[in-house]
Amino acid sequence: MRIARFSIDGNVAFGAVEGDRPDELVLDIIKGIPFAEYELSGTKVPLSKVRLLPPVLPNKVVAFGRNYADHAKELGNEVPDAPFAFFKPSTSVIGPGDDIQYPAFSEEVHYEAELAVVIGRMCREVPRERVKDVIFGYTCANDVTARDVQKREKQWARAKGFDTSCPLGPWVETDLDITAASDLTIQCTVNGAQRQLGSTSQMTHSIEDLIVNITEAMTLLPGDVVLTGTPAGVGPLVVGDEVAVTIEGIGTLTNKVVKRG
Ligand code: ZN
Repeated sequence: MRIARFSIDGNVAFGAVEGDRPDELVLDIIKGIPFAEYELSGTKVPLSKVRLLPPVLPNKVVAFGRNYADHAKELGNEVPDAPFAFFKPSTSVIGPGDDIQYPAFSEEVHYEAELAVVIGRMCREVPRERVKDVIFGYTCANDVTARDVQKREKQWARAKGFDTSCPLGPWVETDLDITAASDLTIQCTVNGAQRQLGSTSQMTHSIEDLIVNITEAMTLLPGDVVLTGTPAGVGPLVVGDEVAVTIEGIGTLTNKVVKRG
């Protein structure tokens, strides 16, 4: 099932996305919240009549760096032996169609297409064989990065944590199992031109490895998001660009870049 979060007439709700053709999608409004007990209401609204919101409101976004060898190399970095994590704050999250605001303190902002894992239940010290049980589903992410700032500051809080630097969406796909999610085509286009094309099968550390690694250290909560790294081909965005992350079997996340007002 594809679960979207949206606003209509000032109310916020979750809905199951039904249909195949992009212009004919409808939302079956969900009674309750997707992480607990819920049912479909049968009340349907066309997707074109609502505003999609970030599909989840994470308490935290844990992101993993240099998890595709080709991307690590293109920036002159070693492929790390063990996964390494950093945070993107909840205030960095925006939804599909929301604007990425180019920050004033950077002159080199990059896109990074990434598979996002959405956590479905509170968990800590998750053993490898239980990882599949704590995953709610998957969505598309853009780990927008102020590359110049990342290079000159040891911690990446500003470079990767500025407001609007974490687009998520367009919805959470809950029908992919972990094996399927580990072999999906992932691509990024800017103004329609392809910039990144890879497969989640190219990750150095698997989805299981990443969840085991982070939950050794901290509790993950329902709605938390784990970003799994970006394939090769990262590059700059400029004001006016439209950037789209597409992951096979999930959908397309599109955002425009604007000057921060
Ligand atoms: Zn990244």
